[in-house]
Amino acid sequence: MPPAETRRLALPGFVNAHSHAFQRRLRGRAEGGDFWAWREVMLAEAERQTPETVRSEYAKTYAEMRDAGYTVVGEFHYLGVDEAFAAAAAADEAGIELTLLLSAYARGGLPRFRQESSTAYVEQVEQLRGRGVRVGVAPHSVRACPADWLEEIGRYAAAEELPLHVHADEQPREIEECLAEHGVRPIELLGRTGCLGPRTTVVHATHASEAELDLLAETGARVCVCPTTEANLGDGFVPVAALCDRGIGICIGSDSNVRIDPLEELRELEGTARRAAGRRNVIAVGSLLCFGSDEGAAALGLDEWPDASVDLDHPSLRGVDEGDLLNALVFGCGADVLEPG
Ligand SMILES: [Zn+2]
Repeated sequence: MPPAETRRLALPGFVNAHSHAFQRRLRGRAEGGDFWAWREVMLAEAERQTPETVRSEYAKTYAEMRDAGYTVVGEFHYLGVDEAFAAAAAADEAGIELTLLLSAYARGGLPRFRQESSTAYVEQVEQLRGRGVRVGVAPHSVRACPADWLEEIGRYAAAEELPLHVHADEQPREIEECLAEHGVRPIELLGRTGCLGPRTTVVHATHASEAELDLLAETGARVCVCPTTEANLGDGFVPVAALCDRGIGICIGSDSNVRIDPLEELRELEGTARRAAGRRNVIAVGSLLCFGSDEGAAALGLDEWPDASVDLDHPSLRGVDEGDLLNALVFGCGADVLEPG
């Protein structure tokens, strides 16, 4: 007799709105030390990347993402243009939708991260678009981009209606440096330079002030939280309740790819909210799943994206009542219950 058909539940595919795929190789390394010590190890890994390593290694990492139920990835990329094309080819091979978030980098980091000018950066974005790569602009951070770069990139993104992603408020030191240079905090600087709007995604916002969160809400910008990476790096606690109270859109990212599991990201997010609130069910499971899919797709400029499916016969879901299924999925399962649609 042929085996009985596996029972499946279709869901909108999970969207990984913030990835640095090359950092997958760092898992388990550089434990101990703080974020800045980790960053040194990360820079050494970035330095050894070539178009060939990106092409082959990213294809494997993207395949892991696809198998974990992510059907779209936003690759926040700062390794160079040839490597950006290699990342797009790797996503094609792995069968995952990709938005290439090309990073603008004026200062700091490694020479390979940087462009000569904001105009040269826009030319790189145009080069990718010209060859059919779906793109978003990504001033790396207020550390890496001075105000005049932010202004030009903000103008370009608005005119071209492109997603704009930017790291902000991940670490207290970045905020202190921004206050010293500009007299305002990072998200305030993004607002002042025209970088906040409904197509903007601020990555992390871990240490955002009340005023900065108000600014995000007023401008319709989203926040991409990366809970497993933020936990791994000791970044701090995402202000989940403050984001939800203001109606700020939240999406998720696997960021350093220390873990590739959308359910774990959502569980960590809700776990943080529960610990802070001292109660359960702070964010309804339907909203969590929306953070994991719809909000991420919107952050990457997509209206449609492939489904994922849940293996209803998986042992992790055995004996669960139908009405409890989605809660059991988020709070009791790993990504091994998920498959591409
Ligand atoms: Zn990042």
